[in-house]
Amino acid sequence: MKVLKFGGTSVGSAQRMKDVAKLITDGEKKIVVLSAMSGTTNTLVEISDYLYKKNPEGANEIINNLEAKYKKHVEELFSTEEYKKKTLDLIREEFDFIRSYTKDLFTLFEEKVILAQGEIISTNMVTNYLQEQRVNAVLISALEYMRTDKNAEPDPIYIKEKLKVQLEKYPDADIYITQGFICRNAYGEIDNLQRGGSDYTASLIGAAVNASEIQIWTDIDGMHDNDPRIVDKTSPVRQLQFEEAAELAYFGAKILHPTCIQPAKYANIPVRLLNTMEPSAPGTLISNDTEHGKIKAVAAKDNITAIKIKSSRMLLAHGFLRKVFEIFESYQTSIDMICTSEVGVSMSIDNTKHLQEIVNDLKKYGTVTVDSDMCIICVVGDLTWENVGFETQALYAMREIPVRMISYGGSNYNISFLIKEEDKKRALQSLSDTLFNH
Ligand code: ADP
Ligand code: ASP
Ligand code: MG
Repeated sequence: MKVLKFGGTSVGSAQRMKDVAKLITDGEKKIVVLSAMSGTTNTLVEISDYLYKKNPEGANEIINNLEAKYKKHVEELFSTEEYKKKTLDLIREEFDFIRSYTKDLFTLFEEKVILAQGEIISTNMVTNYLQEQRVNAVLISALEYMRTDKNAEPDPIYIKEKLKVQLEKYPDADIYITQGFICRNAYGEIDNLQRGGSDYTASLIGAAVNASEIQIWTDIDGMHDNDPRIVDKTSPVRQLQFEEAAELAYFGAKILHPTCIQPAKYANIPVRLLNTMEPSAPGTLISNDTEHGKIKAVAAKDNITAIKIKSSRMLLAHGFLRKVFEIFESYQTSIDMICTSEVGVSMSIDNTKHLQEIVNDLKKYGTVTVDSDMCIICVVGDLTWENVGFETQALYAMREIPVRMISYGGSNYNISFLIKEEDKKRALQSLSDTLFNH
């Protein structure tokens, strides 16, 4: 069985829902994971913000606007009075339920219940639409089987067992629709797998049912328009190893959420990225296969800050790096790139919320310099150290660009450069010309 996940943009309007319905009704039995309609989760977060701030009027205004939008979607989606009414009743109930939270104390617990409603609504709409079209589709609730443990990590044994029970309730169904993102925690409370977590749901389900393939359907065209981070100048990337995908996911979390990789890799289930706007295109296949000696993609990430600490005390001292890392850890700031020499360490971060505190603390150990408006350029592919020539090619491509840091050898799949943001375009073009266009 295959597991297909459609993201927010792919179910973002009545028409897009109809397109998805067409795509999934090919007679093959499948599990379909859906996100909330695009923008909805953000709006639910906004509603929660008003409620945290004890402003129920503000929340109610947004709730009413959102409800009006959904009523319009329902009017457009259904052609029979029966299903239109059934779905409008559900929308009314859902929004009355959300409104009931504007009256009492509002905590993280209530917020999670509110955030869960986006996926609950979208999956009900699509299931009702399929049933109206006489497709043999059923809705199974993620709250019945998707669960995290006491460490807030998904519990694969529980998921496998409970999902099986749900599927066995409807042995004759062709399509099982279910919610991405939402789950229950170890205490049975409604929770979620973090923003963008629908991909994770699909991957966990794929592993639980030992799927033949996990398909992540997204609006890639939409992503390319507003997401300049992924550069793919020549031909689209057709195949990636899981680790290569993990390197790229950091740069373009919008193609595939990084958490989604591990369960699929572990269960050895291929993940195919597909484009809802071009359904017949082959997409990108992510698997445990490595295409030997091949560079796959070049990606870039902006808004990077480099921090250098220079200290004569570092010379031959042990424990120096630990002290430095502890400072970053205490401000919950993760380090992306790191380069060391005998007299200094350079690190890059993309979260500058606590930059000033970090710099102040680092000054205890040496002289600190900060470079902002930097950018990481990452070359991804089979860069196993025994392969010769690839580092030289990448370095050659960067010959005219001032390079602040280089990182190679951390994994078998990447070489990264830290450069000025203003040099990004030039660097990407040169890398692309050198590595692909010959
Ligand atoms: P899509 O197929 O459009 O990516 P998703 O359901 O995967 O749909 O994502 C829906 C929206 O959730 C995205 O457009 C984005 O705004 C938001 N989102 C996705 N991943 C993240 C993330 N890691 N952090 C915050 N928001 C995210
Ligand atoms: N709807 C959730 C979000 O916007 C989860 C997802 O779409 O993946 O984050
Ligand atoms: Mg996504």
